[in-house]
Amino acid sequence: MLRCKSCGANYDARTPTFRCECGEPLDLVWDGGEGAAEKRTDRAIFFPFEEGEWVSLGEGNTPLVSVKDFADELGLADVQVKNESANPTWSFKDRGTAACVAHARALGFSRIGTVSTGNMAASVAAYGAAAGMEAVILVKGDTDEEKMAPVAIYGPTLLRVEGAYDKLYKESIRLGAELGIYFMNSDVPFRVAGSRTIAFEIAEQRGFSVPDWVVVPTSAGGNLRGIINGFEDLLSAGLTDRMPRFLCAQAQGCSPIVAAFDAGEERIKPFESPHTIAHAIENPFPPSGNRVLAELRRYGGVALGAKEKEIVKAQKHMARQGFFGQPASCVPLACLRNAREEGLVAEGSTAVLIMTGSGLKYTAAFQAHKLKWKDCKLKELAEKMR
Ligand SMILES: [Zn+2]
Repeated sequence: MLRCKSCGANYDARTPTFRCECGEPLDLVWDGGEGAAEKRTDRAIFFPFEEGEWVSLGEGNTPLVSVKDFADELGLADVQVKNESANPTWSFKDRGTAACVAHARALGFSRIGTVSTGNMAASVAAYGAAAGMEAVILVKGDTDEEKMAPVAIYGPTLLRVEGAYDKLYKESIRLGAELGIYFMNSDVPFRVAGSRTIAFEIAEQRGFSVPDWVVVPTSAGGNLRGIINGFEDLLSAGLTDRMPRFLCAQAQGCSPIVAAFDAGEERIKPFESPHTIAHAIENPFPPSGNRVLAELRRYGGVALGAKEKEIVKAQKHMARQGFFGQPASCVPLACLRNAREEGLVAEGSTAVLIMTGSGLKYTAAFQAHKLKWKDCKLKELAEKMR
């Protein structure tokens, strides 16, 4: 069943329903079940699909790694990085895409689609190829070749469309319904449901001990909602004994959720003139923003922003520990640092940072770093290496 947590309306999960009539997003409801604790690694108990409906490229089961340097620097007991760049197309999006493809197949769709220029476009194109389904990928008219090629390589129907981006999004929903294309955009219910597996894995990798904080870079808001739902599932299955607190991490240059959180508002407003190096989370009017605000308050969470130079610094610090994330993926470290300075996260706490995607996704960020190397002649080698 799909449920709107805002107005309480319910919808049949075996229908292509993408949003509540009230305008808010929908969540897949897991209704428990016998022996859940014994079957915890069986994803079928959490998703309403048959095993044969899944098309997997091996998404999920990404590493969770403790970084002693971060813990020492921040005065925390443990800081772990959930490295989502280890997914098949190098971002967390593969989890939600796999769940959406299973849903689309269960409903009998033969065509899938998305509106994106980044991680989601590549992910949907790859899974379309793997599933033998036509993938229709719509991107903005000004998207450059560097971003088109890594999507085109999977062989989708790739359309670069002139015109306003928000209209493109709405047209995709309308035409998808008319033409029978399952549009798995940013916060559709099964994409959000796919993100639950991040919570399942964190719990399992920690021996079912819940961290004090989970820090999530937030754009549309679907990933954070999915992770919250996952921890709720674990709690209701009796696998864990409490909920973590959540830190919604945004770039200050595009921080509509932080603005509404600080103002005590229940609804977000469009963010004027967004600009940030963290392109992957540059969404000025997140479709799940209102829902994220409600969930943060419910579980004692916070929303914080990071300045541009703090994001660049965090990207460098992540890399110097062996993690090369795209700028958006490094916003959590910057925000956790700010949260410690503001006293929002207590000394000795434990935290998990969600590193959502690979640094190779956005090579323009190299320009923000003073990267160095030296040239030398072969005969000078010994001297240079001393
Ligand atoms: Zn509703």
